[in-house]
Amino acid sequence: MVGAGPVGLLLAALLQSVEGFSVRLYEKRREYTRTRMVQLAPYLVADSVESYRADSIDGDSVEAIFDPPELDQGLAFRQAIPSDLSTLLKSWVLGFCPLNSIEQSLSDLIDARGPNGVERTAGVVTAEDAMTMLQAGDVLIDSTGNRSLLRDHLVPGSGDVYEGANTLNVRLEYALVITFLYGQPYDCNEYCKYYKNIENAHYKFIPMVHRTHYDGSVSHVTGIVNISADDYEAMPSRFDGEWLRSNVPGVAQSMDRFIDKIKQETHGEILGDLEIVRIPLDLYRARNATSRRLLAAGPIDHPFARSPVFLAGDSAIGSPYFQSISLGFECAIFLAGLIAQRDLPLGDMLDRYELHIYKQWLRVYMRSKMIKHNKDLFESLDDPLALLDKLHIY
Ligand SMILES: Cc1cc2nc3c(=O)[nH]c(=O)nc-3n(C[C@H](O)[C@H](O)[C@H](O)COP(=O)(O)OP(=O)(O)OC[C@H]3O[C@@H](n4cnc5c(N)ncnc54)[C@H](O)[C@@H]3O)c2cc1C
Repeated sequence: MVGAGPVGLLLAALLQSVEGFSVRLYEKRREYTRTRMVQLAPYLVADSVESYRADSIDGDSVEAIFDPPELDQGLAFRQAIPSDLSTLLKSWVLGFCPLNSIEQSLSDLIDARGPNGVERTAGVVTAEDAMTMLQAGDVLIDSTGNRSLLRDHLVPGSGDVYEGANTLNVRLEYALVITFLYGQPYDCNEYCKYYKNIENAHYKFIPMVHRTHYDGSVSHVTGIVNISADDYEAMPSRFDGEWLRSNVPGVAQSMDRFIDKIKQETHGEILGDLEIVRIPLDLYRARNATSRRLLAAGPIDHPFARSPVFLAGDSAIGSPYFQSISLGFECAIFLAGLIAQRDLPLGDMLDRYELHIYKQWLRVYMRSKMIKHNKDLFESLDDPLALLDKLHIY
C-alpha cells in the first residue's frame, strides 16, 4: 500500500487482521501534523439498511442506485470490522474531529496490535518503484490522495503516461474554507444561514450543517464562501483574517456581519484569528479504479497486467462539501471486505470493486450537484428574478 493518510491507514488496519495477509505500508510524511477538522458521515457506522439510507439529501439515491443484496453486503462488511476499529469510527462520527487525531489514532492502533502484520516504511515511492517492487501474489493499493501516484497508469496504451488520462473532473466552483473558534456553544441550520447572511448580497458564508461541534468550551466553525476564478488566482493558498481584510474586504465584511450576528445571539467572542484556505471544489473520479483493463489486455509487458492494482480514497474519487473522507472510508471498508474473501476469483473482485466505486460515484455526483444547486439558489434568495433564472421547473 502506498500512502498512509486516513484511508490508507484505515485499510491497513482492516487488512492487518485478515488471515493470510501481510501489509507493507509506505508513507512519505514522517509525522502526522495536519490541523484541519473534519466531519465523518454517520452512514459509516450504520447497523441497518435503514440507518445507511437515513440522509436527507441522498437517502433516495441510495435506494435507486444500489440493489438490496449490495446494501446487505456493505452492511456485512461493516459488521466484520474489528471492535477496536469500530469503536474509533463510532467516536468520530459524533461531531467535528481533528484529522490529525484520526490519522494518529489509526497509526497508533496499527502499531499497538500484536501480532503486527504491518511493515511500515517512510519515504517517497515513485510509480517505477511500485512497479519494480510488485511480486507475484501481491495486491497493490494506491491511497496517495487526490494527486494519485498510479491513477494515470491504469489505462492501456503505448506506455506513455498522460496526466489526467484516467480522470474525469467536474469543477463545481472556487471557494474559501474559513475556520474559526468561538467561545460559546453555537450551532447552525438553514434558517440560521439565511438570517445571518441577510445583509450579505455577495460572499455569503455558509457553515455546514453539523459542522459546528461544541466541545465543552469552544465551538469549531467551518464554512465556505464562493469566490470567482479571478479572486482565486489572486490569493495565496492559505492566509489569515488580516490578509483577508486588507486584500478582499468584501469577504471580510461579510464574515464580520455573520460573526456579529452570532455574537448578538450567544454573547461569545472569536478565539484567535480566522484560518482561511482557498481551494477549487472539484468532483472527480478515476475512470478505472483498478488495473482491470490492463489485466484484460492479456500478456503485455507491464507489471500491472500481472498483478491487481486498486485505487482507494481520494486516489479513486474526490468530492467537495466535506464528504470525501467518508466516501474514502466507505470504499476502503468495501475493498477490505472483498480482499478478505480468499475464494473470490480475481476478475470478480476487480469487477465488483469497479462497480462499487462507480455506484458510489453516482451517489456523490448527484449529492454534490444537488448541494451546489441549493447553494446557487441560496445566493439568489433576495433576488426573485435571479432565483427564477436558476430554477428549472419541468
Ligand atoms: C481544507 C480541507 C478541508 C477538508 N474537510 C473535510 C471534511 O470535513 N470532511 C471530509 O470528509 N473531507 C474533508 N477534506 C478532504 C479530506 O481531507 C480528504 O478526503 C482525505 O484526507 C483523503 O484521504 P486519503 O487518505 O485518500 O488521502 P490523503 O489524506 O491525501 O493521504 C494520502 C497520503 O499519501 C501520502 N503520499 C502521497 N504520495 C506519496 C508517495 N508518492 N509516496 C509515499 N506516500 C505518499 C501522503 O503523504 C498522504 O499521507 C478536506 C480537505 C481540505 C483540503
